[in-house]
Amino acid sequence: MNPGDRIRVTTETQTFEGILLPRSELEDEDHITIKLDNGYNIGLRGGRTEVLGEEEHLQVFPEIELEKKEGLPEISMIATGGTIASRLDYRTGGVHMLMEPREIFFTTPELAELVSLKKVVSPFRVGSESMTFKEYPIIAELAAKELNEGVAGVVVTHGTDTLHYTAAILSFMLQGLKKPVCLVGAQRSPDRGSFDGAMNLICSAITAGFSDIGEVVIVMHGETSDTYCSVLRGTKVRKMHTTRRDAFQPINGRELGRVWPSGSIEYLSDYRAREDTDVHADTALQEKVALLKAHPNCNPELLNYLVDNHYKGVLIEATALGHLPTDTVNPEYSWISAIKRAREEGVAIAFATQCLYGRVNPYVYTNGRIMFNLGVLYAEDMLPEVAFLKLAWVLGHTENEEEIRRMMLHNYAGEITMRSLLERW
Ligand code: ASP
Repeated sequence: MNPGDRIRVTTETQTFEGILLPRSELEDEDHITIKLDNGYNIGLRGGRTEVLGEEEHLQVFPEIELEKKEGLPEISMIATGGTIASRLDYRTGGVHMLMEPREIFFTTPELAELVSLKKVVSPFRVGSESMTFKEYPIIAELAAKELNEGVAGVVVTHGTDTLHYTAAILSFMLQGLKKPVCLVGAQRSPDRGSFDGAMNLICSAITAGFSDIGEVVIVMHGETSDTYCSVLRGTKVRKMHTTRRDAFQPINGRELGRVWPSGSIEYLSDYRAREDTDVHADTALQEKVALLKAHPNCNPELLNYLVDNHYKGVLIEATALGHLPTDTVNPEYSWISAIKRAREEGVAIAFATQCLYGRVNPYVYTNGRIMFNLGVLYAEDMLPEVAFLKLAWVLGHTENEEEIRRMMLHNYAGEITMRSLLERW
């Protein structure tokens, strides 16, 4: 028997069929693990084993022709990596990235019936934790090209860890966007019974092909069961749980809508409506921008390090309303001089709140007023990740103080809400 073979194991009381998995380093020689057809694994000790099929059959996936289907909206897909584009590797027992973008049909063949898939492109394949500023412009340019060539919408498959960062930067880069760009991922891998990627993909294809929303959105499970997906504004959403299928939640905003795999769409709040106009990928980004988090005992030498290393902007996840240590018992821990020096050297400093919900406000405490007077920009109710990427994008366009402030506080893609919502937080 080889890992990957389909086997049957008959014990004294029961019979099990499934795929033989490789032994993990924790397993002893008396046990084997098989993956049952329902996606769960079982460890068995002893029993009579028979090989039912060889390893090869695992590599087969349906070849689907990308052909134009009359009567169905045309969409394109950009596949970038992550769990949604992975398969269990039966030789190692871990999940690995798909080698061929079309392998996506292995988990979701329904896609071929739902929309007319014009193109599946995969410019790179990385886990989303490994994304850099080099990849964002590539996605933005590909999406703009496809949209300008006339597709109804674009689906971007992506790892979930930093899905909301990519959604935010695309919201800024895709200037003039009036068609749906749907980012989608999976919290559970395709070998598991609880795989969520197929339904997420189906709902994102429906959103891209049929919805009236002309924005960058994340489309992921709206609750833990397979009922509907939430459509979430790309600048007001965050991964809030490591494993739950409804990990993506709106922050300081509401769901734009809900989409059911049956095809129905419910609109729940205001959105920019679809129009058939061209979009421009405005991809200039400043690389030397950092995201810092304030915490008790945080040392201002962190900021000095960034200034010494020629950083042009720093987004600080300040505490609550937007505070940093100023009245410390040990003066070396006060951030006043470091902020002052950074500002004198022309480094843009912006604060967003580490509370995530609510907005920063410099006027409540003296501490905030000091920072404000030193020229710190208070980023309203923007999420720290969103404000960080916006700062990088703004600094890619200008180094002028006034212009930085104007652009940072300009609402490009619904990233700032001027009225705080009371009904949900
Ligand atoms: N670490 C993976 C990633 O973000 C997890 C996932 O895809 O859900 O790429």
